[in-house]
Amino acid sequence: MTHSESQILSLLDGELSGGVAPEEAPARDRLTGMLSREALLARLGHTIARAAAQPRSGFALLFLDLDRFKLVNHAYGHEAGDQLLRQVAERVRATSRATDAVLPTTRGNAAARLGGDEFVVVLEGLSRPEEAHAVAERLLAALAADYWIQGTRVTISASIGVVHSDGGYGNASDLLRDADAAMYAAKSAGRGRYAVFDASMSQRTRLRVDTERELRAAIDTEQLTLVYQPIVSLQTGAVVGIEALVRWQHPVKGLIPPAEFLPIAVESGLIKPIGEWVAHKACRDFARLLRQMGAAAPEFVSVNLSRRQLGDPALPATLAAILHDAGLEPRHLHLEITESELMTDFAVAKQTLDAIKALGIALSVDDFGTGYSSLASLHEFPIDIFKLDRSFMASSMRSAQGPALVAVAHAMILLARNINVRVIAEGVETAEQLALLQSLQCDMAQGYFLGRPMPLEALATHRVPLQVQSEP
Ligand code: C2E
Ligand code: MG
Ligand code: MG
Repeated sequence: MTHSESQILSLLDGELSGGVAPEEAPARDRLTGMLSREALLARLGHTIARAAAQPRSGFALLFLDLDRFKLVNHAYGHEAGDQLLRQVAERVRATSRATDAVLPTTRGNAAARLGGDEFVVVLEGLSRPEEAHAVAERLLAALAADYWIQGTRVTISASIGVVHSDGGYGNASDLLRDADAAMYAAKSAGRGRYAVFDASMSQRTRLRVDTERELRAAIDTEQLTLVYQPIVSLQTGAVVGIEALVRWQHPVKGLIPPAEFLPIAVESGLIKPIGEWVAHKACRDFARLLRQMGAAAPEFVSVNLSRRQLGDPALPATLAAILHDAGLEPRHLHLEITESELMTDFAVAKQTLDAIKALGIALSVDDFGTGYSSLASLHEFPIDIFKLDRSFMASSMRSAQGPALVAVAHAMILLARNINVRVIAEGVETAEQLALLQSLQCDMAQGYFLGRPMPLEALATHRVPLQVQSEP
């Protein structure tokens, strides 16, 4: 979770638990009874001083952040979120054998809640650093066990950043800063794990902060652009749709692909303004294309959504406003969400997607076949299109696994037809792949062979190299 997010959460928390005036900083966290941030900082001051006086006895700080906690609040409500935080606090306390004594000079392990879903554990009197790692492992295991909240089973994981006293820390805030960087590294490495701080992490933090700042400016100074890739009907050879793909035209670094900046946009929350900009621009561009090309225009423009956007309860209303502003009917807009992101946030995704679907917008599952979704759960979503991941194409069709891949692709196309879902094959690069897809009766295809992503203006004159098979 980013800082702005956790700040908002702690504000919410303050509100829910009656609010606390800053001047009377309490020693305990009202929700969990753990040490407050202020009490923790005071105790850490003494811990640091004692360790400096007795270099043989080390300590470690564990910075713990729940993974995707906001979704619990969103899916089950804030009361459930509070209950979960109390149970988490219970497990953290028990696992770390922390005392709740608020006296700053108290010795021994301490556990605090900083606000939101951020917790800190201080382990004292360690003879070896590995002892702290063992506690981190135990914490991860304890927190991953099921929770029962209002009769519902909830699971959540945590990411932990670990900092050791041998870093020569002189004050508590440097310790917290580095533990936060290590926690962030644990999240980027895939969540549900711990990472131990090293110097490269603060470099990466700086790079991330720089990129974030530049990206913020990029939105304001219109350095972002959209290109469009044709989606072609395999029956008629016509361009039936276009997919909007974002690019960052950086004044110094040149063209930056989405894979390099979208992860930072997602982590920082900038994906919200960027995603809205993309949807808005794509809808206005498409309305223009409809006016320009008339009957020859594609039927839809497809816009990619990130998981973070799906978690925004205001998304359906935002999309409705964007369509209205662009003067575009909802049937002209498709939204793509990758299979893996759909599956991680099942409950949230379902609510939001049902609401979007009710507007008349079509939904595609992107990179389909890579997300290990259970078909039963996929069926719960109002899906119109599967976009068969390009790993099914590529050179692999010729490789040793080629025949098996073709068989799986074929099975997916048949399955889709049976549940009334259409299929777009992604990443078609050769005439051979195209012919194969036609023989498998795939509905649509997209890929460099049929057209690279291009500026809007190039679409009207784009020619698709597709031999249409005559109907028998
Ligand atoms: P995606 O949605 O699966 O988009 C298809 C990607 O595959 C695009 O990469 C496209 O240029 C590339 N591609 C298309 N045909 C071929 C082909 O024949 N061969 C190969 N090797 N690649 C092909 P791009 O534009 O770099 O985008 C990468 C990913 O970034 C997208 O994957 C999408 O998940 C994400 N993305 C792009 N624009 C946006 C956006 O506006 N919002 C969000 N949330 N995500 C976006
Ligand atoms: Mg896509
Ligand atoms: Mg894709």
